[in-house]
Amino acid sequence: MRKVILLRYGEIHLKGRNRSFFEKLLIDNINNSLKDIKCKVKRISGRYLITDFEDKDYNKITDKVRKIFGLTSLSCAWEIETNQAEIEKQSLLFFDHIIKTIKSDEFTFKVSVKRSDKNFPFHSDKFSAHLGGIVLEKYKKLKVNLSKPEIEFTVEIRDNGFTYILMEKINCVGGMPVGSAGQGLLMLSGGIDSPVAGYLMAKRGLTLNAVHFFSFPYTSMQAKDKVIKLAQLLSDYAGNIRIFMVPFTKIQEQIHTKCDDKYMITIMRRFMFKIAENICEKYNINAIITGENLGQVASQTIESITVFNSILSNVPVLRPVISFDKSEIIQIAKNINTYETSILPYEDCCTIFLPQNPIIKPNIEKVKKQESKLEFNALIENAMENIDIIHTK
Ligand code: ATP
Ligand code: MG
Repeated sequence: MRKVILLRYGEIHLKGRNRSFFEKLLIDNINNSLKDIKCKVKRISGRYLITDFEDKDYNKITDKVRKIFGLTSLSCAWEIETNQAEIEKQSLLFFDHIIKTIKSDEFTFKVSVKRSDKNFPFHSDKFSAHLGGIVLEKYKKLKVNLSKPEIEFTVEIRDNGFTYILMEKINCVGGMPVGSAGQGLLMLSGGIDSPVAGYLMAKRGLTLNAVHFFSFPYTSMQAKDKVIKLAQLLSDYAGNIRIFMVPFTKIQEQIHTKCDDKYMITIMRRFMFKIAENICEKYNINAIITGENLGQVASQTIESITVFNSILSNVPVLRPVISFDKSEIIQIAKNINTYETSILPYEDCCTIFLPQNPIIKPNIEKVKKQESKLEFNALIENAMENIDIIHTK
């Protein structure tokens, strides 16, 4: 008998012929996440198994595994050889252990058997009732409660010759394995919304890259470090993130000196999108991701979004938090541990040269007229040439 961690996965069951691709990707992601911890990971039909770890690493492993997209739940389990006498003996020992641990033999329980080994002679329901009977015979004060048991005791008889006995199921994050849906470029500011947007798209299987625009010396080095920290926090879920750091000072200065102030934000955002698209094309990235949210600030109107999109030729923009209330975004940010970093006070480049009365519903012709005063292409080329690339892992 040995202690193992059993991992369950969800939606990838549905993927028909692609199933083995998803399963392979998921095991690669699990191995990657656990690469600094001594343990082994393998696939058995319908489950993954972590074995050969030291007890002291158990919490570290479950903390990491809980955050892997594609996994739905995990359980600490005892692995025993599949034979009826052994399962009965170990089940009784298990109850013995529970009774000693909680110092009571008067709780309600339910036995759930899941049999995927069709050579095992009992049907699941029959064997559940049989095991329950044996337990009741030995521990007379226990009671069965099938709808709301205090202890649910699960016996999974898998088709690899082993049976897994366990009590507790811990939820994992769900979603699809990172890397199963292509590459995304997250426009990552230091705010609350964009890290949440990145998390949500990684959850649907996109590999994350990030782009951050900074305007040194108007924005500080701390602002840049904050963004790196946010990307590192996202990496717990999304694996390594490649960050493109784009110098934005010259662009902002030129807009500020040559264009009507009212258009500052609109034009600046169009530069950001165009540079993001150039990065996507150069590095084979399929989509841009932003934390935009309809109506949250002046620049986030449907008219503004239309004018931003019109600078792009080929790359789609995904805006997963477009319809969320701020409180819903904050709740996710807290759950994924980015909130505390996001609210650190360092300025983002969006907050410099801010006009008193920004255009809320821009008109594309007027925007283009303002942009004609700028060395648009040269500024973009210059920014592209001076990008710094940083990896989070
Ligand atoms: P966030 O909380 O993500 O900063 P926000 O509510 O402050 O969003 P804006 O400042 O209008 O809204 O930014 C909208 C989106 O534009 C951000 O979610 C992000 O995707 C992108 N963005 C803004 N500033 C930057 C930046 N300096 N670098 C990269 N992307 C940015
Ligand atoms: Mg912001």
